[in-house]
Amino acid sequence: MFTPKQRQLILKVFLSLFLSAPFILNGQIHHVVLDAGHGGKDPGAVAFNTQEKDVALSVTLKVGKLIEKHLSSVEVSYSRETDKFVELFQRAKIANSREADFFISIHANAASNASARGTETFVLGLHRNDANLEVVRRENAVISLEGGYEQEYVDITSPEAQILLELHQQNYLDQSIQFASLVESRFINHAGLKSRGVKQAGFLVLYKTSMPSVLIELGFLTHREECVFLASETGQNILAESIFFAFRDFVEKNASNNNGHAIEHNTTDRNEEVDNTSSVHSGIAYKAQLFATGKELPSDHAIYSVFNSITIETVGVLSRILTESTSSKAEALQWIRQAKAAGYEDAYLVTYLNGIRQ
Ligand SMILES: [Zn+2]
Repeated sequence: MFTPKQRQLILKVFLSLFLSAPFILNGQIHHVVLDAGHGGKDPGAVAFNTQEKDVALSVTLKVGKLIEKHLSSVEVSYSRETDKFVELFQRAKIANSREADFFISIHANAASNASARGTETFVLGLHRNDANLEVVRRENAVISLEGGYEQEYVDITSPEAQILLELHQQNYLDQSIQFASLVESRFINHAGLKSRGVKQAGFLVLYKTSMPSVLIELGFLTHREECVFLASETGQNILAESIFFAFRDFVEKNASNNNGHAIEHNTTDRNEEVDNTSSVHSGIAYKAQLFATGKELPSDHAIYSVFNSITIETVGVLSRILTESTSSKAEALQWIRQAKAAGYEDAYLVTYLNGIRQ
C-alpha cells in the first residue's frame, strides 16, 4: 500500500510524535505558547492601511501580559515579540521544544467579499468546505516566502500526513475544541462580536504541534467597520481580554477536572431498549467518536438518522458524540466507515479499558 519511502516517513512521523509529545499531565496547563501570525516580510492580510501582522502581534502581546499578570501558574512563551519573520514550522518547533501544554495562534481574516465579518476559531482537521479552504490557503501561503525549506513541508492530504492528523485528533482534538468554544463564546458575550463559530481545517502552523492548539481569526480586515475595531487600541484590548478570559476558564476547568474524566450519559430517549449495562463492558471496549461539539445536541440532529443509539460524554463545556459501546473492534471500525460515508469525516476509534477512556 505504501512505498518504502512513504513507510519510512510514516515511521519517522510516529517516532517523532511519541518521542516528543508532551502529553498533558493531569490535564493541567503550565505553559502556553502564543503565536502572533505573520511578521517581518510577511504582512499577512492588508486592508484599509492595516496589516494583519501588526494587529496579531499587538493582541498577542496583550493576551500574554494578561496571563502573566493574572495567571501566575502559567508560563508564557512567544513565537515572536517583535515585527520579525518566523517560518511556519519553526513556530510549532518552538512550542514542541519548550514542551508547552497549549498553542494559540492569533490572526486576522480577509475575504474578497467586503461584507464578510465575524470571528472564527479553528482546530486542526480536514478541510470541510470551500470557505475554510480559502482561509487555509491564505494562512499557509507564507511558505512561498520561506526559501530553502521546501522539504519540510509535506502534502497535508498525503497518507503520512493523514496518520499524523489522526493521532493529533485522538490526543488533542477534544481540548482544542473545548478551548475554541470558550474563545468564541467570549467573543460573543464579552466583545459583542459576530461569531462564525468553531471550525476545523488543515493549517500547517498547527499541524506539527504536539499539543492541543487553535488558530484564532479575530475578524475581517476587509470589513471596513471591523477593520477600525481591529486596528484600535480599545478593540485590541477587548479582543485580548476575551481570549484571556477563555484561557483562564479553560485552565481553571482543567485544574479542577481531575484529568477531565468523562461523565457518560446514555441517550435513553433514543434507545428503545434501555439497558443500563449496554455501554459498560469489562475489559476492553470500543466506540466510534463521531464528532465533538460545544453546544447541546438537538434531539433532531442528523446523526440520529445514521445511528439509532448514540452516547454523549461531557467534559467541561464539550460534548463528545459517540456510538454505543462494543467489545468488537471490527464492529467499531465498521461504524467509523459508516460515519465517514455519512459525512462525519473526523470519526475515530476510542478504546476503553474497564469502562475508562484510554
Ligand atoms: Zn494570518
